[in-house]
Amino acid sequence: MRTSAIEHFDVLIVGAGLSGIGAGCRVQTRCAGKSYAILEARDDIGGTWDLFRYPGIRSDSDMFTLGYPFRPWKDAKAIADGPAILKYVKDTAREFGVDSHIRFRQRVVGARWTSEDARWLVEVESGAEGARVQYTCNFLYGCTGYYRYDAGYAPSFPGAANFGGRFIHPQHWPEDLDYAGKRVVVIGSGATAVTLVPAMAETAAHVTMLQRSPSYILSVPAVDHIAERLRRFLPEGLAHRILRWKNILVSTVLYQLSRRRPEFMKGLFRKIAVGNLPAGYDVDTHFKPKYEPWDQRLCLVPDSDLFKAIRGGRASVATGEIETFTECGIRLRSGEEIEADIIVSATGLRMLALGGVKLTVDGAAVEPGRTFIYKGAMLGNIPNFAFCVGYTNASWTLRADLSSTFVCRLLNHMKRGGYRVCRPVCDPAGLEERPLLGLNSGYVLRAAADLPKQASEKPWIMRQNYILDMITMKLGRLNDGVLKFEKKLPATQAEMQEKVSTAYSGND
Ligand SMILES: Cc1cc2nc3c(=O)[nH]c(=O)nc-3n(C[C@H](O)[C@H](O)[C@H](O)COP(=O)(O)OP(=O)(O)OC[C@H]3O[C@@H](n4cnc5c(N)ncnc54)[C@H](O)[C@@H]3O)c2cc1C
Repeated sequence: MRTSAIEHFDVLIVGAGLSGIGAGCRVQTRCAGKSYAILEARDDIGGTWDLFRYPGIRSDSDMFTLGYPFRPWKDAKAIADGPAILKYVKDTAREFGVDSHIRFRQRVVGARWTSEDARWLVEVESGAEGARVQYTCNFLYGCTGYYRYDAGYAPSFPGAANFGGRFIHPQHWPEDLDYAGKRVVVIGSGATAVTLVPAMAETAAHVTMLQRSPSYILSVPAVDHIAERLRRFLPEGLAHRILRWKNILVSTVLYQLSRRRPEFMKGLFRKIAVGNLPAGYDVDTHFKPKYEPWDQRLCLVPDSDLFKAIRGGRASVATGEIETFTECGIRLRSGEEIEADIIVSATGLRMLALGGVKLTVDGAAVEPGRTFIYKGAMLGNIPNFAFCVGYTNASWTLRADLSSTFVCRLLNHMKRGGYRVCRPVCDPAGLEERPLLGLNSGYVLRAAADLPKQASEKPWIMRQNYILDMITMKLGRLNDGVLKFEKKLPATQAEMQEKVSTAYSGND
């Protein structure tokens, strides 16, 4: 077998979702002259916002912070529908010319770093057949999101085979599903469930949200009226910046209050629920969570849509444990039977570290679960590698964009200093291991062992605070004594080509 010519890039970005497109824009505008490509496993841009097609799919954070700081969000709705977000991501890619750098159907499966060559050799399954292709790059940047695309999380429900209706996971929404006039049960109480219930209730006969235990729910206006007013007399860019900062401050205050004054916030959430539900409604059973505010992600509902559907009698909430699926629906341990034509398992995602890319450094396999995260963007002892992870307590993009601007700073610093290699040097023995994400949601706990870790001291802390992170990532010294730079010359492309050809010659 002969290997075809290996393409080389200064930077390879993995993933063309919200983060990967943002990263492309940043590299393009801040690192003039760097060659880059975005390798995307799917055949379109958008990641999450292209994959999920369930009714009502929308953001649960505002678009002034979920959107990019460098491209104003102009729509009236600040809590936006999935298709509008997808269009925004695609338009951004087109406007910045990033779209022409994307290689679709390129699933990165592995990347091998050799110190001798000072390069990554990136292994890719290409096209529909998954043919093996290699690329090389000086710097690898994973913008792969945080969950598996092939399957969501669905627990095995007792008696599931008995159910005579349709059983659906929101990650694979069937295009042909007609739920008008049907009885629907949505299992779950997270962001997806609270989105699906009012959306389906518009035409379904009835929708029941079946939850084991409740979540904190906060109603926010879908349209930000301050935005409407500001946009009338301020230039778009300035209005976007002001609105972005307003929402960063509001979400920071909300989070800090939740952590420092949980009883006050619990009272507030209860008041919101009581005010929105019919008199005499059993708020404590259905809307009083067992955990503290922000132990799990807060669920936002636009314009009280969930509460309105309940008030209107089109939707209801059942709280209890499933005993079994039956032919006609679900029986709870309490004995209550809920009849259904359709059951939707809004039970969450399966988290995946680094998009499943297997990294090796000088022949040694990297176990993501045994690495420490550096400034929330790199991994201890892994050279020329960064990855993008967003906030759990605020919009993902706030942190994703900080990672991308940090990567650009790093690349420019290396260029100026003539450095070829950078590596956060880490002695794991001296660090106190903590889970990466400070949430106790099921999907986070299920994956915690496989995710990189944070520690209790800087720069190995994964903070959930945009303002502090902004200072560290944009202004903090790069020569901090942890990040080590080397001037080693990388291998030439001819040398890399020769090595790969030799490695494959045994297969001739
Ligand atoms: C239904 C839903 C709603 C959400 N709503 C919000 C919200 O309102 N606010 C918020 O802050 N967050 C929200 N999130 C989190 C959301 O995922 C992020 O906001 C954001 O979309 C993540 O963007 P991303 O580009 O990092 O990841 P993704 O959107 O997951 O995109 C990752 C891309 O990388 C590609 N990829 C992955 N692995 C590989 C590989 N090995 N090789 C090649 N390509 C690869 C994928 O195909 C995909 O295109 C939501 C998540 C879901 C599932």
